[in-house]
Amino acid sequence: MDKIRELKEQAASLSLYNTRDKIEDLIHQAEQEELSYTVFIGNVLSSELKYRHDKAQVRRIKDAGFPYLKRLKDFDLTFCKSLTKKQFKQLSELTWIDGIYNLILSGPPGVGKTHLAIGIGYQACEDGYKVSYSTMQSLVQCLRTEEIDRRSRAKMNRIRKSNLLIIDEVGYLPINPTEGNLFFQLISELQEQTSIIITTNKGFEEWAEFLNDPALATAILDRLSYRCDRIKISGKSYRLENRQSFLNNGGSDNEV
Ligand code: ADP
Ligand code: MG
Repeated sequence: MDKIRELKEQAASLSLYNTRDKIEDLIHQAEQEELSYTVFIGNVLSSELKYRHDKAQVRRIKDAGFPYLKRLKDFDLTFCKSLTKKQFKQLSELTWIDGIYNLILSGPPGVGKTHLAIGIGYQACEDGYKVSYSTMQSLVQCLRTEEIDRRSRAKMNRIRKSNLLIIDEVGYLPINPTEGNLFFQLISELQEQTSIIITTNKGFEEWAEFLNDPALATAILDRLSYRCDRIKISGKSYRLENRQSFLNNGGSDNEV
């Protein structure tokens, strides 16, 4: 038993925490199955590697900052007529992130823009990409305060090191010239290194309006659109079509 304790301490000092916690099971299995030394060492190492891989995956998902989780497998393509099966498959395969392409998802509320963006982000975390999610409002706030606020700086550092940045709800709120310039600088900075997904309720022609600056809007869209696919999602709101209520009023005139 003392020997096991010593092995556990040695495993911990080598940061082999899975080996530390599983050592009894691993030894027991080797004894039961009369494994060779080679297979035994192989089992110890692959168990540690799997543990680290799973842990890194959980950390990437947590660090991405999703407001909630949505999966691509739960996205109903029969409801969303604006996306073909083939496009959906290509989006889920994520090779476009390696090619540093951008994706602009535009359309009215409730059509699944955020669901798709988070679903892609989640899948990317699982596949080993570093992902950051932010609403436009929160991004602008971080850009404004990164010099003076430690948390904003940390978030921006993470964004700058991400393979994929999701900027949700672009165009919902107008932004002032300083914020517009900071946003432009960020997009320019990320241009060659990070894929960006933008969800927006605005058409390109309306960007000048919410940015309050036609020249800036052109410059930003020019950079974003260079390597980019744009999916305009039209149709009805999934929320309204699948509205759930808690009052069992049998469809009376008082339906809420
Ligand atoms: P948007 O960002 O376009 O306003 P959301 O992505 O927030 O819309 O979608 C609103 C709700 O409807 C979410 O709960 C989302 O999961 C669901 N939803 C929208 N489109 C679909 C779809 N095609 N399949 C499954 N759920 C959907
Ligand atoms: Mg949304």
